[in-house]
Amino acid sequence: MTLILLDMGAAADSRRERASRADGDRARADSLAVENARVLLIEDEPGIVDFVRRGLEAEGFTVEAARDGVEGERMALAGSFDAILLDLMLPRRSGLEVLASLRLAMPGAPVIILTARGEIEDRVEGLDAGAADYLVKPFSMAELVARVRAQLRVVAQASASALRAEGIEVDLLTRRVRREGQLVTLSTTEFELLVYLMRHHGQVVSREQILSAVWGYEHDPATNVVDVYVGYLRRKLASTGEPAPVFTVRAVGYRLGSSS
Ligand code: CA
Repeated sequence: MTLILLDMGAAADSRRERASRADGDRARADSLAVENARVLLIEDEPGIVDFVRRGLEAEGFTVEAARDGVEGERMALAGSFDAILLDLMLPRRSGLEVLASLRLAMPGAPVIILTARGEIEDRVEGLDAGAADYLVKPFSMAELVARVRAQLRVVAQASASALRAEGIEVDLLTRRVRREGQLVTLSTTEFELLVYLMRHHGQVVSREQILSAVWGYEHDPATNVVDVYVGYLRRKLASTGEPAPVFTVRAVGYRLGSSS
């Protein structure tokens, strides 16, 4: 009977519900962000390598360093790093070339560019090329740690966007739905309906609430579109063998939850 809400949106919820859930998300993402985070530093200046390594290791991160573009690219593609700090002026292969090849191979990788003052054009080009952020040298350790944490939070949020209740699991990113581990294929509208019911797990929601949240506009109050789609959804969820945990609440609407 537990519902874990890890996403940030839910337009139809009360402001307070939303605020407390967002706080929970942030706290969870922060703890995820610090635990076992691996950072790859691609930088040829030994002084900066030492500074960054000492600072990030003191914060509990694991740091691996590459001293040129070719080695950096190879390490980035071979290892699973949570964040990549990339200098632009590198021997053998430039930071922008490395960034371009990482973009192709691993589009979601959070790359933070390290750039000297005066390289503004390169910096803009870097962001256009898909860097998540940049830091201008010389930067403070506090600034660096804050930027790395911000990127880790983004990644943690994205990878934790799932709803779970009553043996149903909804991945909000891939839009995959599983019941007791079995894949359930839903149409777009059925998916939106399920997400709405999951977000209100255990609560009774009216047909009007469902209509405005899922269909998004005013309908003829006599429409039976909600009942029709609840029927479709029940049938698909029940394809795994067990009856769907979506109950009719007479004269009011529906509730996703246990039958009692
Ligand atoms: Ca350099």
